[in-house]
Amino acid sequence: MNIEREVLETDILIVGAGPAGLALAYKLANLVESDDAVELPEILMMEKGSYVGAHSLSGAVMDPRGIAELIPDFVDKGAPLEAQVSSDAMYYLSERRAVKFPFIPPSLNNHGNYVISLNKFTGWMAEQVEAKGIDIYAGLAGYDLLVEDGKVAGVQTVDMGLDKEGNQKSNFEPGSIIKAKVTVLCEGVHGSLTRHAFEKIPTLIEGRLPQSYLTGVKEVWEVPNGRIKPGQVIHTIGWPQPKHEYGGGWIYGMSNNMVSIGYAVGLNSPDPTNDPHMKFQRYKMHPLVRKILEGGTMLHYGAKTVPDSGYYSMPKLYHGGLLLCGDSVSFLNPQKLKGIHLAIKSGIMAAETLFDCLKATDLSANMLNKYEERFENSWAKKELYKSRNFHASFKGGLWAGLFHGAIQMLMGGRGLFNRRENKADHTYMLKIEDYKKRFGHAPEKVSVKLDNEYTFDKLTDVYKSGSTHEEDQPPHLVIADYDICNNRCTEEYGNPCQHFCPAHVYEMVDDPDRPGKLKLQLTPSNCVHCKTCDITDPYQVIRWVTPQGGEGPNYTNL
Ligand code: SF4
Repeated sequence: MNIEREVLETDILIVGAGPAGLALAYKLANLVESDDAVELPEILMMEKGSYVGAHSLSGAVMDPRGIAELIPDFVDKGAPLEAQVSSDAMYYLSERRAVKFPFIPPSLNNHGNYVISLNKFTGWMAEQVEAKGIDIYAGLAGYDLLVEDGKVAGVQTVDMGLDKEGNQKSNFEPGSIIKAKVTVLCEGVHGSLTRHAFEKIPTLIEGRLPQSYLTGVKEVWEVPNGRIKPGQVIHTIGWPQPKHEYGGGWIYGMSNNMVSIGYAVGLNSPDPTNDPHMKFQRYKMHPLVRKILEGGTMLHYGAKTVPDSGYYSMPKLYHGGLLLCGDSVSFLNPQKLKGIHLAIKSGIMAAETLFDCLKATDLSANMLNKYEERFENSWAKKELYKSRNFHASFKGGLWAGLFHGAIQMLMGGRGLFNRRENKADHTYMLKIEDYKKRFGHAPEKVSVKLDNEYTFDKLTDVYKSGSTHEEDQPPHLVIADYDICNNRCTEEYGNPCQHFCPAHVYEMVDDPDRPGKLKLQLTPSNCVHCKTCDITDPYQVIRWVTPQGGEGPNYTNL
């Protein structure tokens, strides 16, 4: 069907108001202010969440290097910092015991860092950007990346007001075409337009290793006074994660007796019953965790994937009409599991590059190339290069990973191998029969009793994420072949989607047309936009596409 669409034109289109996009807008405005010969270009900044920060979630302990470079007086300007890190501890957990590491490895030392709520922090960054006269359009979601004559030409936004079958309702509003001289994608992890860029311009990822991910599941609790100090940082490895899998937990003291607690699970697990949400609920049963949370109240919930393969998975960072920033393109240090400072730095470097382009009145790919050159000469590259082999160290399991990690630190990142090949996460999942052959038993999910006071089922947690979606719209989880889900996947993997999704979107229910058989049923309105399904589905028949703008989680304090 031919739909007439409004065409808007702008100089620079920034997709995503997270740390990278906001840093870009702020820095560019600052540079222009400092030079009378250059005028602020027309900037359109779009954000799919209902407000800036609605979709921002991280642990988070922030290394201030990025924000200090962008806004040196960020503390005086009232940046919402929960606390400066006051103590740092690391534990190895068995089911009942916690053994404290006698020292913190230098790469994990959080001295000088800040515990923050990323969601509050991006809200504050947005205020700084708006004070520079740049408008941010929240609730505006990108549907497609437009590529014309080999160059990125802009973005088409999502149609609003379609029903489940894709028919126009009375409130139908067609998505607009936003044409831009340069489009900067700052979408966050596994961005859908960034994925379009990789599909439409394959040279961006030529010769790069595939990305790999963890899924982090998090709750914020209010606990009785004195349980944890603001700025107290605890990291754990070990239980409940099996030794051949990758992941760990965190507990951070926030202000006002709030605690950020979470668990991150590698998505390269061989186990088709891998369930990050359930692992997190089990984690809370450990005595070390329980003694902090017991008697408290769970306030908020969220989940998000984390790109953890680092430097060798970074794509080319520019193309004609395009710059790529932030988490979507691996600006995250896998050794520290920190990316906010690197995302901000990527935004700064993109802004400096665009400023050079404006001065030269040349926005061609030849000029945009300076972004890549800047990165090569930056502290961000140095940091990412040093941790380039960290993720691959854990291929042999936890202890091999810790051993290699230590050697890498001593050898400046090289370790016992370099650029170890990596496959996409979903290829590591084993079929039930293969799992039995490797482990001697069928995959079996270990669960805890969910009482909805201390341990929560997925639906109760989703409620605490504030996630909302219009029910009558085309599903934003697009299943390419239901037949695979209802037959082959049931037999071969036991339908892992019902386990790995942390929001109970996927359910196997009785199929009335096939007595004794199950069929897949989706509840997309539960989705918290973590992207785990798009990454982990073993047949790659699930595609996450952007729903109507302004939908999804409405995070607070996360
Ligand atoms: Fe995450 Fe996919 Fe579940 Fe949405 S449907 S919450 S993106 S796993």
